[in-house]
Amino acid sequence: MMGLWRVVLAVLLLWNCWQSPVAAVPLKVVTTTSDLASLVTAVGGDRVNVSSIALPAQDPHTFEPRLTDVQQLRSAQLVVKIGLDHDLWFDVLTQESGNPALQRGGERYVDVSTVIPLLEVRSVSLAPSDGHNHGAGNPHYWLDPVNADAITGIIAAALAQIDPDSSKTYEANRLAFLATLEQKVAEWQRQLAPYQGVPLIAYHNSYPYLARRFRLRIIDFIEPRPGIPPSPSHLTKLLREMKDEHVPVVIQELYESDRVPRLLSNRTGAEVVTLVSSVGAIPEVPDYLSLFDYNVHALATALGRTKV
Ligand SMILES: [Zn+2]
Repeated sequence: MMGLWRVVLAVLLLWNCWQSPVAAVPLKVVTTTSDLASLVTAVGGDRVNVSSIALPAQDPHTFEPRLTDVQQLRSAQLVVKIGLDHDLWFDVLTQESGNPALQRGGERYVDVSTVIPLLEVRSVSLAPSDGHNHGAGNPHYWLDPVNADAITGIIAAALAQIDPDSSKTYEANRLAFLATLEQKVAEWQRQLAPYQGVPLIAYHNSYPYLARRFRLRIIDFIEPRPGIPPSPSHLTKLLREMKDEHVPVVIQELYESDRVPRLLSNRTGAEVVTLVSSVGAIPEVPDYLSLFDYNVHALATALGRTKV
């Protein structure tokens, strides 16, 4: 009888050994945005199961979380957010999750903005009711592709803390991703090099990081302040600037009406180009690298047509 038990035990142990790599359950990560989700996937590969909350084609400042988003968080092992005023709604959700580790200050709560050299920092305190006004610094930092180095760095560290056995895999995935990114950045810089310093108008102040990286010059915005629609006097000012500076292109946001960009275009002859600020907002940008492929191509093509 003892012999039989030994055999059963040995089979069970073998079964366990054989099973463990296959049965390893991916870490459940919830991010606020699709851009962060794409970068978590780049680092975590098949060892993570990532979902994001904000809808990529929607204006982030009008986003309202749903009840199902709280359910997603209940089973999350790590949460990753943009921070600043971009996803203020997230802290309410993480509180609802009932898991202190996933809440601000918790060990499984990553606010990526803490590792980014921010632009446009002003000393304004923010509350959820303040909306998307860029008070504490411009939050659109993922739109500088070089910032992906710091973003993936904090993500890899957080994943390795939860799953130390996979830390080498996370770092290897990250380095492979960054090597591809570096080549891509050089390619994007070549594509945009002829347009350095050309004056541009943008709808929302989404692109200061992109502009700095590629030496683009965004001189004004259709929104006089982030989230505020333009007044007639602001439009008059824009038209004057566009004529004085010979602005060839107006950058439109995917989720805004094109009424004002069209009006500016009709009055000045400038082209309107729609850039995409988040992964997944259109089928052509399924991941972080394709987001820049798309935007750089769109911008270079529009600027090329205007023969600046
Ligand atoms: Zn913004």
